[in-house]
Amino acid sequence: MVDALTIGTLTINPGEMKRGGIPIGGDMVEPTRQIPIIVLHGVEPGPVLWLNGATHGDEPEGPFSIFLALQQIDPQKLRGTVVACPVMNVQAFTAGTRGDPLDTFSYDMNRLYPGKADGYPTERVAHAHWLAMKDQCDLQIAIHSGGEHSYLAHMIFASNNPESLELAAAMGKNWTLVFRSGTGGGNPSSQIGALGKGGVTVELGGNCRTLTSDFHGIAQDLADGYLNVMRHYGMIDGAAEFAPAWRMGFQIALLAPATGMFVGSADLPFETTIAAGTLIGQIYNLYGDVIAEVRAPREGVIFGLRSRPSVLEGQWCCFFGVIEETVDNLIPVR
Ligand SMILES: [Zn+2]
Repeated sequence: MVDALTIGTLTINPGEMKRGGIPIGGDMVEPTRQIPIIVLHGVEPGPVLWLNGATHGDEPEGPFSIFLALQQIDPQKLRGTVVACPVMNVQAFTAGTRGDPLDTFSYDMNRLYPGKADGYPTERVAHAHWLAMKDQCDLQIAIHSGGEHSYLAHMIFASNNPESLELAAAMGKNWTLVFRSGTGGGNPSSQIGALGKGGVTVELGGNCRTLTSDFHGIAQDLADGYLNVMRHYGMIDGAAEFAPAWRMGFQIALLAPATGMFVGSADLPFETTIAAGTLIGQIYNLYGDVIAEVRAPREGVIFGLRSRPSVLEGQWCCFFGVIEETVDNLIPVR
């Protein structure tokens, strides 16, 4: 027996899909602004899965992949509940920027969870989202990409608890890089992990890949991951697929050693081990001279690269991963 569920403005009966919102305070004209949510409440018991997109407003992979995934889910056949939050940070998404450009003091919504009821504007948005989610969530996937400045390949940052590592593995065969991140940090995945639940941050795409078939392909890749998660936890029918093993380690931010134009090396592979010293990219001055190089500091994998050529000294050029171990046991034997 499944009870009705109340989230934000919605009360959803078993077998229903409804659209509504999480109120986040007043607008200049309208009495309330909302974070849009779509809730699919199943007819049989199961986990509550939150799909959280566009906390960074320049990362449209979350919303589009959520739209594609929801087309595949029939609430009349669902076990458990899907709460889809395609755009968490509407102000930032409207502007096409990482954070809300009107909010100087809490710009990055992914650094300030669980937010504050009486805080800066984005802290209030995060707090409303957190209050709506925290007690009605078993599994949480936060969807990110390289946004306006970078491209990110398949990478999962999982809270360092077994529930989160299992959720990461459940994303399926394309997701072989799973790095542990701390619990209790300022992002929603970390906060959900601290509650002993599954919380992961998945990365794929960037504004350099939002055209036509490329964007559809990236969004479908992500959507296939969420559907695989739902199969693994028994929410929908079908057999989940898994990577044969997962590569775990830590990231090193490779920052620009000079100001100029960053150009990545031709044929540089993503997600594949490269040797220490491999040339990742070069920085040109505006006369065409190479003034600096970015090289692999040690053996590792590139899981992201700057796509905006203009670069200032100290800005992020390469998302470099060091693999410490390869494991095959993230899915517990039950
Ligand atoms: Zn992001």
